[in-house]
Amino acid sequence: MRVPIGFQFAGLHAGLKSTRKDLALVYSETPCTAAGCFTENLAAAAPVRDARERLPSEGIFAVLINSGSANALTGPKGLDDVRASREALAKELGCSADAVLCCSTGVIGHPLPIAKMLHALPKLCLGRTVDPVPAAEAIMTTDTRLKVGFRTFEVAGKTVMLSGICKGSGMVQPSLATVLAVLTTDCAISPEWLASSLREAMGSSFNSLSVDGDMSTNDSILVLANGRAGNAAITGPGEDYDVFSAALTDLCGQLAREVAADGEGATKLLEVDVKGAPTVAIARDLARAVAGSNLVKAAVFGADPNWGRILAAVGGRAGTQRYPVDPARSRVTVQGVEVYADGPLWHDPTALKAKMREPLVRVLVELSQGPAEAHAWGCDLSYDYVKLNADYTSLLVQAPDGGVSRDNRLSNYSPAFKTSLLVGALSYISKFRGQRCVIKYGGAAMVKESLKASFCRDVELLRSVGLQPIVVHGGGPEMVHAIEKLTGRADYVDGQLDPPDPLMMEMVLSGGINSELVTLLNREAEAAVGLSGKDANLLRAKPIPGEEGQGEITRVNKDFLEMLLKQGYLPVISPVGISEDGRTLNINADRVAAEVALAVGASKLIFLTDVAGMLRNGELLSELNVAELQSAVADGTVTGGMRVKAEASVRALTGGVDRVHIVDGRIPNSVIAELFTDRGVGTLVAP
Ligand code: ADP
Ligand code: MG
Repeated sequence: MRVPIGFQFAGLHAGLKSTRKDLALVYSETPCTAAGCFTENLAAAAPVRDARERLPSEGIFAVLINSGSANALTGPKGLDDVRASREALAKELGCSADAVLCCSTGVIGHPLPIAKMLHALPKLCLGRTVDPVPAAEAIMTTDTRLKVGFRTFEVAGKTVMLSGICKGSGMVQPSLATVLAVLTTDCAISPEWLASSLREAMGSSFNSLSVDGDMSTNDSILVLANGRAGNAAITGPGEDYDVFSAALTDLCGQLAREVAADGEGATKLLEVDVKGAPTVAIARDLARAVAGSNLVKAAVFGADPNWGRILAAVGGRAGTQRYPVDPARSRVTVQGVEVYADGPLWHDPTALKAKMREPLVRVLVELSQGPAEAHAWGCDLSYDYVKLNADYTSLLVQAPDGGVSRDNRLSNYSPAFKTSLLVGALSYISKFRGQRCVIKYGGAAMVKESLKASFCRDVELLRSVGLQPIVVHGGGPEMVHAIEKLTGRADYVDGQLDPPDPLMMEMVLSGGINSELVTLLNREAEAAVGLSGKDANLLRAKPIPGEEGQGEITRVNKDFLEMLLKQGYLPVISPVGISEDGRTLNINADRVAAEVALAVGASKLIFLTDVAGMLRNGELLSELNVAELQSAVADGTVTGGMRVKAEASVRALTGGVDRVHIVDGRIPNSVIAELFTDRGVGTLVAP
């Protein structure tokens, strides 16, 4: 990322948190004009009380930010610590203590570990570079994603750069959430107009976040301008000011949107637009009311197209504020589907539900009372939100990497919830005892460590409730990678590898992937047996004419599998076959899975892959029958690697397998979710 001229950044681990970076520096080689917007909380943290008195101003060189401790409600020591860190940093940088601003984020009521901070300052200053990423990392708390942004634009014929680092609210709980952002620009602009421009930017960005509708003790948005772009300084209204303000508003908007999307407990970003309102203030307030409505947020979490809640939220807010708007005379659109226009409209609730499963849910309310419009960002309200905030301190645990993570153990749920969960689960589980199920293991689940582990646990859980799983793995992304490494080239054609080199394939499949998978599975239980199709001639195959090294199955050694299953073993099969004349052949793993399912009389066949399931125009097809599947192949909806799965599914279902599931391997525990819930998470195909 490029950054404005003359700015430097640093971030390191000073020991405020157990292992992660926790101290950040934003520095300008030349003095800056600076402005800030702060929390209005009367319990504002010491660094906020210190900085807001001194802004807007000139002559600022640096911002020091720590995470790990909020330095809020820490008594007189709080302000003393801010002064001490300002002085120490100033000495290190060779500027005056007045040239330093501070921000803190972390736990309220914990005094700043000032000795650790002071100790780390020399190293922090030495580590300055033009890369803002270490600083952006050091201000993160429970953020899961880095938040940085950059804009470049022209002011009075000069190129101006603007960049920003930001952290969001870890908890989607107003009194604990903190937003910190430091924006830097090389634009020349007076402190007053910088402040005015920041105020303008706040309206449609950080002040349009419903998750932080009430501010924390530490919210601070700072902007530093050092004038190094060389433009004639902006000292009043006009075109230059407008261009600068527009860029600042735009960048703040991007960062605020990322904060909403990354709220803890949130699974989706909610974007609400209100149009046709009498004033912008009313439009913004109503948009925030919708984005902040618990009922709307819960519906978004559950992908429930219950649009009535949207207008109820508009009406409720408009009523208490006496806004001259009539919610009944409006148009409401959810994910591009019009659901209301002066009255309810017919729409297909299943289609809308599928659209609402997307990570971004858009709501548009068009009133008919004026020209003004505004937006607001929020997030959905998940079970995790309630769980987390019901007992915030005991449910957040220190992760081994020094961060915090959630304690997801079932024991944290209410007794009534646990009971109904158990009753539901047990009645499902009993149906599966003694049944066989073939799982084709492919896609992202094969590469990401956490997904591999969750897959192995799922397989063991299936075994523990009496289901008899068989795993067939593909080559997946690892195969491409390995062959690329060995040969310098690889092409994926139609879900199959080209050119195939049988020896290399065998090495990667049986020697590499199979053996690793068996090792992982046997950590959970000592039952996994790694098999190549050559073992006991498990997979007999014949060459496919014109496809060098590729084969199709002619026979599965059913007795061999039966013997293993009866003994309680878990067969893990690599898709390598053997021809009558002893040649090694590579077989598509989807086809192997289908043939194995038929051979052992499996009731289920599960394909774990890299997409949400079978899609049509980007929408998930959650249930299909064989005829529908065949026409989806015929009309070109299903192509490439998915077509191979579709054909294998048809073969399995017409041969006696009860159900085929195509499941998103990128979601942890997706196999369990598809099997043990009424409406699964992927595509279900039945005869
Ligand atoms: P795997 O490693 O799981 O076998 P593949 O790449 O072979 O994965 O097959 C899945 C791919 O099929 C998807 O990533 C997608 O690109 C492609 N595909 C083609 N048509 C569809 C469809 N209608 N729905 C979903 N995926 C499709
Ligand atoms: Mg494939």
